[in-house]
Amino acid sequence: MTTKEKDLHYIMHTYGRYDVALQSGKGVVAYDEDGKRYLDVSSGIGVNSLGYCNDGWVQAITAQANTLQHMSNYFYSPQASDLAEKLCTLTGLAKVCYGNSGAEANECAIKIARKYSFDKYGDGRNEIITLQNSFHGRTVTTLAATGQEVFHNYFFPFTEGFRYAAPNDFDDFLRLVSDKTCAVMLEVVQGEGGVNILDKDYVQQIAAYCAAHDVLLLIDEVQTGVGRTGKLFAYEHYGVQPDLMTVAKGLGGGLPIGVCLCGNKLKDVMSPSTHGTTFGANPVVCAGANYVLDVIANDAFLNEVEEKGTYLESLLLQLDGVKSVNRLGLMVGIEIDGDAHAIAAQCVQNGLLIITAKDLLRMLPPLIITKDELREAVNILEKTLKENTP
Ligand SMILES: *Cc1c(COP(=O)(O)O)cnc(C)c1O
Repeated sequence: MTTKEKDLHYIMHTYGRYDVALQSGKGVVAYDEDGKRYLDVSSGIGVNSLGYCNDGWVQAITAQANTLQHMSNYFYSPQASDLAEKLCTLTGLAKVCYGNSGAEANECAIKIARKYSFDKYGDGRNEIITLQNSFHGRTVTTLAATGQEVFHNYFFPFTEGFRYAAPNDFDDFLRLVSDKTCAVMLEVVQGEGGVNILDKDYVQQIAAYCAAHDVLLLIDEVQTGVGRTGKLFAYEHYGVQPDLMTVAKGLGGGLPIGVCLCGNKLKDVMSPSTHGTTFGANPVVCAGANYVLDVIANDAFLNEVEEKGTYLESLLLQLDGVKSVNRLGLMVGIEIDGDAHAIAAQCVQNGLLIITAKDLLRMLPPLIITKDELREAVNILEKTLKENTP
């Protein structure tokens, strides 16, 4: 059987795949089983932040794999404590809790928010306001947190206690918030929802309300974090400080990690056996994440992300068939004439690995992409759009 045949036979069909089996990669370039070359502006959905097989990252994880590949969370780990120190120092947050994915990090944040409120106010103050069109994960609880009806099917009963506010509408937030509310959970740029950038005023109004009412501000930085938007974390664009933040996709540079961080007032909420994970805080993964942060967490690197994003946007806006661009840093949604899903599939055949979000094309290129590579990517998109012009 070919890879595709085996996949279709043995793997549950939870994804519609592009017609390519990837074999290897270096930097921004991937190769399929036949040796065909692809430029990748998707990074495995914002995961390969330093591109494929970055030398320093490979060295960090192989050295750790050759030293100690796993220990349980009953032991202290230098790699996990170093990463925690870095994350807290860089954000001003106080403590971290490790997991293995974005959804898990969000589950952890939801648990912390509810326990904080339970400990302090007792039963019943447990509602969390999330936004319409958000995405927070695929577990039963994070699906419930996700403010899109299409995700609330089949798997009943969902976790109770989520209410969905219209984004950028503070009055709608005020309508939903009550003495039952313990937290507000949001992505400052909605990724899966179509690269929707929240208004600064709106986020600041919510943050001010939260601070005044001891409602926790939980920012999901699973997609926006670790340099993606040209700041280390996207909340920095907004002049607010979260009480809880979750990070995943780009942090591990390609290995699975999810981290929930909390501020000072929450640092003692979780006590032994209130949360846990067998694989979380894995030393190989943490060694890779330490390397990723060492590369990305500096102004020169982050300024380049923004500069490359601006350049990419200017190229995209010159194309016939591009109607508008939603962008922060190198998180890019492209509204086009025509069916984004069909165009994306055709781009892949033309050697450009690109994804979609809702009805938009979406680019989340490796942050190390060069301007030349961005130009090459836009050229392939241009060619593909032309092929589709009647
Ligand atoms: C991808 C994503 C998640 C879920 O992360 P997984 O690692 O797939 O569980 C949660 N929140 C946001 C904003 C995401 O983009």
